Amino acid sequence: MKQYTHAWLAFMAIKRLEQAELSKSNRKYADSLIKWFKDNKDGVIQGAWYPDMIIKDMASSHVLKFTPVDEGEKGKFRKLPKTHLVYQYCKESDLKQKAYKIDRDTNLPDRCESIAHSVVDNLKMQESEEKGSPIVPSDNHVATLFFMLSHYIADAHVPFHCDSRRFSEGNNIHGRLEKEWDDEIKKYYLLDKANGRFFYDPTGYPLFDKKKDQLYKESFLKKVDDNLRKRKFAVSFGPKNGNVWDFMSAICQYSYLLSYRFIPEGNDHTNVTAHNWKKLGSINLEDVSIAALSDAIDSIATVYFRIWRRYKKWEKR
Ligand SMILES: [Zn+2]
Repeated sequence: MKQYTHAWLAFMAIKRLEQAELSKSNRKYADSLIKWFKDNKDGVIQGAWYPDMIIKDMASSHVLKFTPVDEGEKGKFRKLPKTHLVYQYCKESDLKQKAYKIDRDTNLPDRCESIAHSVVDNLKMQESEEKGSPIVPSDNHVATLFFMLSHYIADAHVPFHCDSRRFSEGNNIHGRLEKEWDDEIKKYYLLDKANGRFFYDPTGYPLFDKKKDQLYKESFLKKVDDNLRKRKFAVSFGPKNGNVWDFMSAICQYSYLLSYRFIPEGNDHTNVTAHNWKKLGSINLEDVSIAALSDAIDSIATVYFRIWRRYKKWEKR
């Protein structure tokens, strides 16, 4: 995914937590996270693209690449909260009957789990250290980690990040897909280009361009919004998924299945064209986009919420 998509998703995840129906005690945790996030978002939004621009671990930690194989025991698939569109679309996929292998050195779920720990560790250090201690992490530092974490979570929702076919080559439909998303976001929100971020509305979220109101009705971004409004928010990572690693592993599995529904077997970078890629499979570009973006927002919101709650429970110990 590209710059503005990443930053936008992190903001939408916080908005999602604001609107989510939660129990009384969970609401308190969510509200304290929302307040903390809004106080600390400025100047650290670059954390959302730090992984691409500075860390540059794209080939390993931004992906978990699957290849279906004919031999061997069929793959074991996890479950996701029923609310995830990618799960609804792919839980009956034929490809589930096949074995798969995962490319060596691709490790997105490990990356997410490790940053999640880092966030909690840093918050605990902040709480425990005396003011002025040389090892106390700043709020900006922790907020940057939060934005970095959302980057890796979001990447798991890009079908081509979980598919070993080489779609960055040939007609680069991987790049084309991510450009579709970024262009759409840049079309409807006002950008503070000099500072590489959005302008904000009075509630602290990316500022919507009111002149685009009519046009927006036709946009898949509107459909992402509509979908989330009627979708129940899941605090759970899904049945039997106990931690961030389990959750991200499940998401990558279903992204892989979605990739094959979008671009069916028998296609690769040598034969997919710049014209036919949008509707080659049993699911089209618009539905893939709605699923990837709305699920990404939900997943980031759930992970943010869970790690913040973990820290808050520790604080009350
Ligand atoms: Zn990335």
